[in-house]
Amino acid sequence: MNTSKSSKLFEEAQKHMPGGVNSPVRAFKSVGRDPLYIQSAKGAKMTDVDGNEFIDYVGSWGPMILGHAHERVIEAVRETALSGTSFGASNEREIDLSVLIKKFVPSIEIVRMVNSGTEATMSAMRLARAFTERDKIIKFEGCYHGHGDSFLSKAGSGVATLGLPDSPGVTRSTAKDTLNAKYNNIESVYDLIDGNKDRIAAIFIEPVAGNMGCVTAEKDFLQKLRDLCTSERILLVFDEVMTGFRLAKGGAQEIYGIAPDLTTFGKIIGGGLPVGAYGGHGDIMKMIAPSGSVYQAGTLSGNPLAMAAGLETLKIIDENEGFYQKLEEKSCYLAETILKAIQEVDLDYTLNRAGSMFTLFFTGQKVVDFDTAKTSDTKKFARYFGAMLELGIYLPPSQFEACFVSMAHTEEDLKETDRAMRTALKNVSDA
Ligand SMILES: *Cc1c(COP(=O)(O)O)cnc(C)c1O
Repeated sequence: MNTSKSSKLFEEAQKHMPGGVNSPVRAFKSVGRDPLYIQSAKGAKMTDVDGNEFIDYVGSWGPMILGHAHERVIEAVRETALSGTSFGASNEREIDLSVLIKKFVPSIEIVRMVNSGTEATMSAMRLARAFTERDKIIKFEGCYHGHGDSFLSKAGSGVATLGLPDSPGVTRSTAKDTLNAKYNNIESVYDLIDGNKDRIAAIFIEPVAGNMGCVTAEKDFLQKLRDLCTSERILLVFDEVMTGFRLAKGGAQEIYGIAPDLTTFGKIIGGGLPVGAYGGHGDIMKMIAPSGSVYQAGTLSGNPLAMAAGLETLKIIDENEGFYQKLEEKSCYLAETILKAIQEVDLDYTLNRAGSMFTLFFTGQKVVDFDTAKTSDTKKFARYFGAMLELGIYLPPSQFEACFVSMAHTEEDLKETDRAMRTALKNVSDA
């Protein structure tokens, strides 16, 4: 595969941006390659500047559930742009998107639009602290909630990929208010609460984790968290930035039948443009300015282009009766072919999947939390990643990320992926 143009661009980019990129995992560092520069994307395919075509399982890290450049989404954005790109004033689409979110996710009564998942979780945290008049939060090792200071200890994905323990620049006083529990381990949460009675404002969790690779929470674990939060007056915050509109219309909370107090969104909600949102019970959300005193604002929040892309994406999902069923069928088919392929070679593996999110871990251990995820052989992963890329399959360049199947993946794409996987896995096992 010729990647000379990409490599040249990366060389140039390193003079201008930290590590040559605007988001760390894009640099392909942990898989030991230069990153590719993407020229265009359509449906399930991406084409780089050297003309190589890939079947894409990154989907912009989650947003592209309809595939790239969906005609209706592009048309909505185009048409909206012609009437102006930003007003710094209210526009009707903000209402339309809010209404649709509330229809999909019944635990949401009031919702605030922001510009990224990071902003959504940071704002939800400030709100939870104000509402409970407490300072500390509990999160789980390996879960990622964006790059807000409070969330950066043991933060999974990018941080894990680069082997950074925690980020410098986070003050001790901030770090001490973040407590880390173990995913799927309720005892670890009980212990933290016992030691910090009446001081915990919120528990943040990815109800299906995607940022240590795909790891599902056990239903009993989530239910116990819910009960605990209710009895201890702690707000339960589901970070559904990845799982929202991905696993079901109503996200992971619909699947588990467990309602959090607050929910954060991002990724799909923006249809490929920068959007995040947070919402929940009216009596909590009304504390946000200007109806309340918790300040949170944004020059571009509710931006018409971003609202148009998100709205059109959710509308398409809404109109398509069996949307998640079809996505499940594609994902299930792919998972079965992966299992067949890997069972034919001599490799330790664990395949985790939740709907259209999945991760193939190179470990024989069951992966239920960050510690077990980290038992994966990341060198084998890097080899697998490289072999797949050479065969035209674009996977997330890290063991600790989830792959995404989109509605645009065709049967032919899945079969092509299967063929590539057989060769790649053989490659890894023979090396
Ligand atoms: C991606 C992600 C975020 C951060 O969203 P950004 O838009 O990248 O700031 C937060 N939480 C979860 C669960 C995510 O997957």
